[in-house]
Amino acid sequence: MADVGSQSARVTAPLLALLLVTAAVAPLAAPVAAQSGTAGSPPSVDVTVERGDDPATVRLRLTFDAPSNARAFWVLDHGGTVAASEGFVAGETKDGDSGYRWDRETESPSLTVVTSVDETSGGDTFEGKEFAATEAWTLAPTPTLTVAWLPSSDGEWRYRQPFAESYPHQASFAEDGVLGQSFLYVGQYEEYTRRANGSRFRVVVASNATPTTPPETALDALVAADRNLSGESPDSVLAFVLPDPIRRGGFSSARTDEFWVHEDAALSTPSNLWVHEYLHTRQSFSLGTRMRWFREASAGYFAARSSLRHDRIERATVARAFTGKTFGNATLSKPATWSSPEVPYYRGPLVLWALDREIRDATGGERDLGDVFDRMNAHEGNVTYADFQHVVADVAGQSMDGWLDRYVTTSERPDVGQVGVDEPGGDLDDRDRPELPGPREYVVSSLKLWGALALAGLVVGVALGGYVSGIGRWLRGED
Ligand SMILES: [Zn+2]
Repeated sequence: MADVGSQSARVTAPLLALLLVTAAVAPLAAPVAAQSGTAGSPPSVDVTVERGDDPATVRLRLTFDAPSNARAFWVLDHGGTVAASEGFVAGETKDGDSGYRWDRETESPSLTVVTSVDETSGGDTFEGKEFAATEAWTLAPTPTLTVAWLPSSDGEWRYRQPFAESYPHQASFAEDGVLGQSFLYVGQYEEYTRRANGSRFRVVVASNATPTTPPETALDALVAADRNLSGESPDSVLAFVLPDPIRRGGFSSARTDEFWVHEDAALSTPSNLWVHEYLHTRQSFSLGTRMRWFREASAGYFAARSSLRHDRIERATVARAFTGKTFGNATLSKPATWSSPEVPYYRGPLVLWALDREIRDATGGERDLGDVFDRMNAHEGNVTYADFQHVVADVAGQSMDGWLDRYVTTSERPDVGQVGVDEPGGDLDDRDRPELPGPREYVVSSLKLWGALALAGLVVGVALGGYVSGIGRWLRGED
């Protein structure tokens, strides 16, 4: 976990440093000849991908079309190792971070980057691997590169991520594979695609995986979860299904709307990993320290709510799951009191379940926690606890500060009676939203497993939280 976090943290440093070296670079560059294209177009790139002799490594060769309308063009590398370059001059930013500057002569400058499944690791907290290599396939982190260029037309640097869907790039594989912005899969696979609600959902199933949830059923669940959540849907969602040795659970990149789940992921458990990981892709808020719990709490609660909505699970099972671990004096708003990183996964959804009901009661069922979630996504800057109180009051039409203080800023837990366990269907109805067709699944809840399962999203959720709040948003602004 620590590795993932520190890698993400590293992302910001080189970019900030680039801003500093901009002044040094720009004066050296004279305007190039006639402009073509627009200042907003980055140099297009062809990417060829092949596994190394060691299947734990994957080589990507990026061949760029030299920009005709840029005074300067850099590729910054924040992850992966540049093994070779042509037409680029390796340089260092002021802070000693590495980048590659186009020599302004080579027409098709290229970089060869190597990524490895060992690039990040789950550390000691979670057993198993976030990335893995087998004979059949390799799942490695996509190298985190940034293309930076200075258009001739103005003096403003542009930044883009070359593996983003919107970037002009083409990928070809020596074997077969899928190049996502966060996850790079090499090997044979089956792909399932669905277009709905203005989004494209792709599920990529490793050739030797046996998904517990049929991919079409998982797509139904993702589409329904998307429809049941207010706010803007992502343009496209990319999900992978992998067998061992990838660890049980899931792993999500909120920044890029990509995730993977283990082949065992089921829709009929309180953790509902498919929807849980999808929920992370819908979280565009950044959170202050006292609200840090909300990332896993909201993914956990909405995932369970989805299972309940579709009658895939009993309410009592969900209540037992959320109350299964008490964590003593742990207080949501005080991460220092968390005796375990699991606190937001259990206490968090329990509190949000009760809060959802409070809001429904206060508004005659007109509004719910989804409206809070939506407004938090629209919030500029970190959502602080005070912001959260304001948003809840606004949605509920009345202050709920006392209630929130009680369950967020102290160790008190709402009791299961308060979350409506004794009132089946009472506070989790569908409010006229259409039900999904399809067979019901058996309730196969395993609290013990859940502990391991549910932790998956934490890492990237937390790690990318910092990313999204700062440079990430700035980069996306360039898209
Ligand atoms: Zn999560």
